[in-house]
Amino acid sequence: MFFPEAKISEILNISDIVDVISESVILKKAGMNYFGLCPFHSEKTPSFSVNSGKQIFHCFGCSAGGNVLSYLMKYHGISFPEAVKMAARKYNIELDNVALSPLIKKEIEFKEVLFRINKTVMGYYHDLLNGSKQADHARNYLKKRGISEDIIQEFKLGYSPESWDTIVRLFKKHKISDKNAAQSGLVLERKQGQGFYDRFRNRIIFPIFDVNMQVAGFGGRVMDDGMPKYLNSPETPVYSKSRILYGLHSAKQFCRQEGFVYIVEGYFDFLSLYQQGIKNTVASLGTALTSDHVRILKGYSTRMVLVFDSDAAGINAAKRSIKTFLKEGVDIRILVLPDGNDPDSYMLNYGKESFIQLATNAGTVMQFLLQVSINTHGSSVEGRIKILDDMKQHLILIQDSALRSLYVKELAETLHIDEKAVLEKVREYYLDNSVSVLNYSKEDKKILESDRREEQIISMMLNYPETIPLIKKKDATKYFYSEKLKYIAKQILSVNHENKPFVNCIMAKMENDKDQELLASYAINDFFSEEDIHRTALSLINRIIRVRIKKENTLTNKIINAEKDCNSELIELLKKKQEEIQQLHHR
Ligand SMILES: [Zn+2]
Repeated sequence: MFFPEAKISEILNISDIVDVISESVILKKAGMNYFGLCPFHSEKTPSFSVNSGKQIFHCFGCSAGGNVLSYLMKYHGISFPEAVKMAARKYNIELDNVALSPLIKKEIEFKEVLFRINKTVMGYYHDLLNGSKQADHARNYLKKRGISEDIIQEFKLGYSPESWDTIVRLFKKHKISDKNAAQSGLVLERKQGQGFYDRFRNRIIFPIFDVNMQVAGFGGRVMDDGMPKYLNSPETPVYSKSRILYGLHSAKQFCRQEGFVYIVEGYFDFLSLYQQGIKNTVASLGTALTSDHVRILKGYSTRMVLVFDSDAAGINAAKRSIKTFLKEGVDIRILVLPDGNDPDSYMLNYGKESFIQLATNAGTVMQFLLQVSINTHGSSVEGRIKILDDMKQHLILIQDSALRSLYVKELAETLHIDEKAVLEKVREYYLDNSVSVLNYSKEDKKILESDRREEQIISMMLNYPETIPLIKKKDATKYFYSEKLKYIAKQILSVNHENKPFVNCIMAKMENDKDQELLASYAINDFFSEEDIHRTALSLINRIIRVRIKKENTLTNKIINAEKDCNSELIELLKKKQEEIQQLHHR
């Protein structure tokens, strides 16, 4: 433990898991639990549950589970101490004077240093754009592109001067070490000679925020025909391109309000939509959308509209991203803007209402792909066969079989090909290219399958702590076969069952993710009822004890008898069996 136990308890007591998870997952109450789409695996129907009374989460689909701290760790991909800090910050809990392991402390401090550097640089570039003479052309450029003063201030746009050492000098002034300077990605090491030079020169600067409003990186755009047109910060410990979406920090509340999100490509696309009041928008910044991006967005809205330019590059980009969306099972529409427009120019030329009208009529992914394929191959017999070849690759990616068969039907009708023949083609292709769709193994679940009653006892203790004295008295957990469950039981029994919140206190004792997940799954599964709980407990305990004693007695007796008869063959066989049984239960 890096923090005193009392501190962790304080955080667990004050924080509210529903409140915390709601920031990244849309939760709806159903019965005792809240349900939402799991941020840790692809799914269309919610199997991710959060229990407010027990302060835990559990996914029935992928078995992810734990308490509020494990959630923060898993969701943000951060360490335990960072999760503690994050929760403490949210609930204004003082965390000073806690002892951290040197390594972890270093890692956290390093990230904080990078965030601080980014913030300083953002302020510096922003002030230059706002007030310096040398930024006149940058301000004019933004004006020409229709970016308002309000937007410049809200998104802290900046200007990097035509100079090789503006930031180098700024770093010197702030006494930033060479190592930190290099890691920030804002300066680059000189290839010849010593020292550094600025990465961004004579560009409009767009700070890139993470969802917690910290400056993670920067993008810079030239104002003439210079190349590259866009330049972004490299990956750093605080900037992960596969996870960050531009604008999400300000768009997230609007995505929830509107129930859907527009995904555009560039900074200006984003800013011009936002400025016109279409605030449920994020930008992918030219990188292909990843599963992480889609899962993060799912936390704010499950319907998405991909907005692309009608040029070949736009269509190719759309095709690349579609795979990810199909796999993630989200409701995605594709909006291809007409006549060489990008969202920015379209808004300027035709206005907001027209854009919304287009978006409302945007087609599904399959309609889009089919149209692209028809445009490419035409509708001759050969063309239609080629279209079918194109489409089967996309169809096997759809995991919802009902939805897939609908698309097969639609495709068959459009191509005037027999539905069965289409289906056959798709099935053939599927078998030749078996796609791995599961992103978790079921092995973990299998470990415990032979110990149903032991699992039931665990679940009973968690849901009805009043049965614990009886279980203790009978020493029932001593008879457990499963070492894993024995360990969990031991942790449960080590906590005073009158403590509240009981499950959360035990959760804090679990040493690793897997154990937390297991604990959460038992805590959320309540097979019992309040009435007669003691009688149920007693009969469960007795059965466990009886089964164990009987099994061992039978084998031991048989071995003893065989030894009496000097039947060495049988002894061998029985001992083998005994070992097998033990192994089975000790896995
Ligand atoms: Zn899941």
